[in-house]
Amino acid sequence: MKLLSYVPSFIKDAARAVKRISQKEFIAVADNTLTELLGIASLFVTMYALRREGDEDVLHLRCAHRQEVALCPHCAALSTDVHQEEPRCVRHLDVWGKKTFLHFLSRRFKCDQCGKVFTEELPFVDSHRLQSAAFEMHVYQSCLTSPRKAVAVREGLSQSTVKEIFNRLAALKKGMGGTTRVLGIDEISLKKRHKQFVLVISDISRKCILAVLPDREKQTLENWIESLSDQQKKAIRFVSIDMWAPYYQAARNNHAGYFQMNNWDICM
Ligand SMILES: [Zn+2]
Repeated sequence: MKLLSYVPSFIKDAARAVKRISQKEFIAVADNTLTELLGIASLFVTMYALRREGDEDVLHLRCAHRQEVALCPHCAALSTDVHQEEPRCVRHLDVWGKKTFLHFLSRRFKCDQCGKVFTEELPFVDSHRLQSAAFEMHVYQSCLTSPRKAVAVREGLSQSTVKEIFNRLAALKKGMGGTTRVLGIDEISLKKRHKQFVLVISDISRKCILAVLPDREKQTLENWIESLSDQQKKAIRFVSIDMWAPYYQAARNNHAGYFQMNNWDICM
């Protein structure tokens, strides 16, 4: 008799199976270790919970947003007026070999300029997705070297989810999805920071905020640009700068050559 390897007849999607976890189960983090392991620039970990789920330990990370500003998809203005928040949970790459879920608030902002209410787009997860972009890329790449069925079992996903992720990313890759092609650099003063001016770096094509730099110093901006990978720099085609007049001059004088070095077209 031929022995068949054991395959569970029904594998529930781990992300769909997530229940809301009570506040009591979370423990406050003592340092930045989990934030560094997470590797998502716009989030920091505030609490964690390690839960026994089925026959494995699953890590849940409660995260807060670093940025208090979002880009209006209707008129491209920056907004700091949070209108509504609701909990959201997405599957992310394993941390310490444990299945990992991120818990954070999905925020709706009210635009000061056009008055419309919108849900902010996030750089690490697309809207309505149950998995982070990094996790979906991991699933896609796993499918290039392993059968989808094996990927589904290993990751605790249904085969239909693995197929859907693979097909979606294959289509996005053709259209250069997921990379920043139009970079926006704006300065705003944040009320919560005593009207301190900060630089907001946004991905205008994907309508999300990539970073809020603590000041408008040239060096701070250059350091951020330097932190990008060569692939990220190459993907950028246009840079839109909207800044305070003296800085605008400085940017024209000092940054023009820098941006041209990277073959970026600048609109000011
Ligand atoms: Zn607007």
